[in-house]
Amino acid sequence: MRITRLVCRYCGSILSGLGQDQVFFCSNCGKGWSLGKKGLEPIQVQCRASADSHLPLPFWMVKATVHVLKRTVRNEFTATMLKFGSRYEEDVLSAKKRETGGQSDRRTFLFPAFSLDGLPGIGVNLSKHIADLPDIIGAEENLPDICGGSISAVDALVLARCVAVGQEAEKADWLAEIDIALSSVKSALIILPCIMEVEMVAIADTGVSFFRRSAPGWDGMVDYHSAKRAGSDRA
Ligand SMILES: [Zn+2]
Repeated sequence: MRITRLVCRYCGSILSGLGQDQVFFCSNCGKGWSLGKKGLEPIQVQCRASADSHLPLPFWMVKATVHVLKRTVRNEFTATMLKFGSRYEEDVLSAKKRETGGQSDRRTFLFPAFSLDGLPGIGVNLSKHIADLPDIIGAEENLPDICGGSISAVDALVLARCVAVGQEAEKADWLAEIDIALSSVKSALIILPCIMEVEMVAIADTGVSFFRRSAPGWDGMVDYHSAKRAGSDRA
């Protein structure tokens, strides 16, 4: 477990995290920082986990206008597959498609700020539960220590688009092709209390959970929190 130590540009406290981390949260003053080309750059942050939460984890919340530039759906699926075989052939099936794109709407996405297999799918589910998140905790209260924010602010925008594509794929039609762009993007780091279950990790009270084994950096994150707790018990 490699630990990165940086200093909060606002209050001078030590920011700790793991070796791969790109985003940091100051548990003293509540400011958020992203490691950019010029060092630490400020990011918006909402802390929704208290200092005594055992597993506070970082997430990204991205608000954006989603432009569905092109959205092609098949009019038939099973029947055409049976008739023409399993390969999708443009010339044979062109008459069986229609365009449903051309609209824009404002959406809010929520997804992990740590790497996770199947992250876009978790993001599709989590984004449905933004109203269920615990309250924001102010900087005057005791704030938790976090680690594991290995997804940078730039990568978060790419992933927000993946979640938007996932939302389109989830609609009850046969999506064949999609072209999506995001604009007017605002992102914030969200700290959520998570609960470790046998093989799963439950994300706050959203009802959404993921397998521990699908997070490549999981052991490092757990070791970090165990070490912190052992340290504060001794103090
Ligand atoms: Zn600080």
